[in-house]
Amino acid sequence: MKLLLLGSGGREHALAWKIAQSPKVEKLYIGPGNAGTAAVGENVELTPTDFDEVADFVINYEIDMVVVGPEMPLVKGITDYFQNHSLLRDVKIIGPSKVGAQLEGSKDFAKGFMKRHNIPTAAYATFDGEHVEEGCRFLETLSAPYVLKADGLAAGKGVLIVPTLEEAKKELREMLDGMFGNASSRVVIEEFLSGVECSVFVLTDGKNYQLLPEAKDYKRIGEGDTGLNTGGMGSVTPVPFATREWMQKVEKEIIRPTVNGLAEEGIDYKGFIFFGLINCDGQPKVIEYNCRMGDPETESVMLRLKSDIVDLFEGVAEGNLDQRKVEFDERAAVCVMLVSGGYPGDYKKGFPITGADIDGSVVFHAGTTIKNEQLVTDGGRVIAVSSYGKTQQEALAQSMKGAEQIQYEGKYFRRDIGKDVL
Ligand code: ATP
Repeated sequence: MKLLLLGSGGREHALAWKIAQSPKVEKLYIGPGNAGTAAVGENVELTPTDFDEVADFVINYEIDMVVVGPEMPLVKGITDYFQNHSLLRDVKIIGPSKVGAQLEGSKDFAKGFMKRHNIPTAAYATFDGEHVEEGCRFLETLSAPYVLKADGLAAGKGVLIVPTLEEAKKELREMLDGMFGNASSRVVIEEFLSGVECSVFVLTDGKNYQLLPEAKDYKRIGEGDTGLNTGGMGSVTPVPFATREWMQKVEKEIIRPTVNGLAEEGIDYKGFIFFGLINCDGQPKVIEYNCRMGDPETESVMLRLKSDIVDLFEGVAEGNLDQRKVEFDERAAVCVMLVSGGYPGDYKKGFPITGADIDGSVVFHAGTTIKNEQLVTDGGRVIAVSSYGKTQQEALAQSMKGAEQIQYEGKYFRRDIGKDVL
């Protein structure tokens, strides 16, 4: 079949790498892709949120399946657009409907959904600009620290965790005053949960689901989880505290009720569900849902998925995912992200990259491009080194070796990925 993958980050390179291994795929296009995806398929100049442009390409190139990598096209309704288009209705599209994508696109929607289906999560209330005083009174009922979340998408920056009540009230006013534009016109205030986080992924056809390997990501720029938040500095899989018993609890109390809840509410959902979980003294609770795979979790998870991912996608599209088989690689995998100097603040682009072919590791490009036939940096998160190991230590050591080998001006990476959960 002919497959189009939308997106351009490390997640998409990892998905493209896995898709390209499928004997079912005769041609893989990535729109727009990056310098890494060009090695496993053909990059095409497409803007994933320009649905007319994507539609023209899909029709002209007779694409059979579209896999949507990032959340924005899903939240904007690409799946509904395809279903309502007479020439695209039969194209298999992997990604939920616009309403389904609200699990990520609106934190208030996600919290309401969890409440309706008794899915364990932090206590919360949502306020808009007309109810600031009620919001302040709700904050007074909670204890420090205070969690304030912009309702809408805010490029991963819309969550504030504030140490004092006074600051929390001030931030609430500022958020409702437009700190994150329209995204914070409503603010979800949540009880603070304490515990270790873990990302769990499933593919669902709306009725059945299949678990993918779980992972833990590292969001802060500094070692020991210090400093500013980033898009993600690395990931590990498996996660030692995600034991069989814990995962059974996750399936029973969180995954099954989520999939059933979507079906009961008549929400069309065919794609990935990312469960951002926190382990509170053995009790898993949902911190957030995402309607796509995580980045940089995909860069380690894909290494451990032994099954043909395109076969699973067919199961998703055809509604018979229960008949497909998912096998995991028993080895550990660790992904280390190399970033530009200055990131997540200001940074320069265009520095030549050398040493990016690494024996014994898989290298996934995130922010790279080719200029005058030279591979150069083109983003904050530049390139990821992912490795297998019989143990997590072994996988980390191999990724470290690769991270040292790759060279460009201003290179920075964390050396402690996964060490906290060993
Ligand atoms: P992402 O960047 O993963 O898309 P996001 O901006 O959508 O994140 P959340 O995942 O909801 O927002 O929150 C970001 C981070 O804030 C979480 O990974 C977690 O570390 C912390 N956090 C969120 N909610 C809570 C909570 N109720 N208690 C404690 N920590 C929380």
